[in-house]
Amino acid sequence: MIDTIGFDGDDTLWHNESLFSMTQDRFRTLLGHAADPETLNRRLLDVERANLRFYGYGIKGFVLSMIETAIDVTDGRVSGHDIATLVAFGKTMLAHPVELLDGVEAALDALAGRHRLLLITKGDLFDQESKVARSGLAERFAAVEIVSEKDAATYRRILDRHGVDPRRFLMVGNSVRSDVLPVLEAGGHAVHVPYHVTWAHEEAKPPADGYRRIDTLRALPALLEEFRP
Ligand SMILES: [Mg+2]
Repeated sequence: MIDTIGFDGDDTLWHNESLFSMTQDRFRTLLGHAADPETLNRRLLDVERANLRFYGYGIKGFVLSMIETAIDVTDGRVSGHDIATLVAFGKTMLAHPVELLDGVEAALDALAGRHRLLLITKGDLFDQESKVARSGLAERFAAVEIVSEKDAATYRRILDRHGVDPRRFLMVGNSVRSDVLPVLEAGGHAVHVPYHVTWAHEEAKPPADGYRRIDTLRALPALLEEFRP
């Protein structure tokens, strides 16, 4: 029934958002003298959203957005020292080891024999390439696709290029907005595996039906066994 399975990377195969939220904690502490935590969160999210069209997704854009927010909330009085601290936060994130989620390797190994596996991840090309390499998972995938946005057109283009009929394609990921809704729109199937933190920008109302939800990738091979679209 399902030939090809697409996997999201961030927060599906490896931890990611926890690193952002940890850094955002440090950001709030650093700028605590200028604004309350809620205001800092809100202003940063607004700046990040407005900057997506300039920088796309990823750590580099996040750093620039933290700097912009810091300038903003201090009315331009943020110190060079604090800006250097924000830049250092970003470098720490970029150098952070890639930590796989529980059960990822076993699930991929169990599925590899019967399905073609694709890695479809969104974000900064350089950082994503580096994470894929450091994850040690690259060999398990027939192809790795790094894209700047995950919408229905993106999925159609990828499936087309790999000669995959959307009806025989299943996408697995933690984001309803990026891994479920656009895949269903493109005529494919989707499995949502929630991560314990979701970036506010990725939050979306799940569809009433037409997709599956599991708590961990460990449950994926069994779900595929009995999968009936
Ligand atoms: Mg993700």
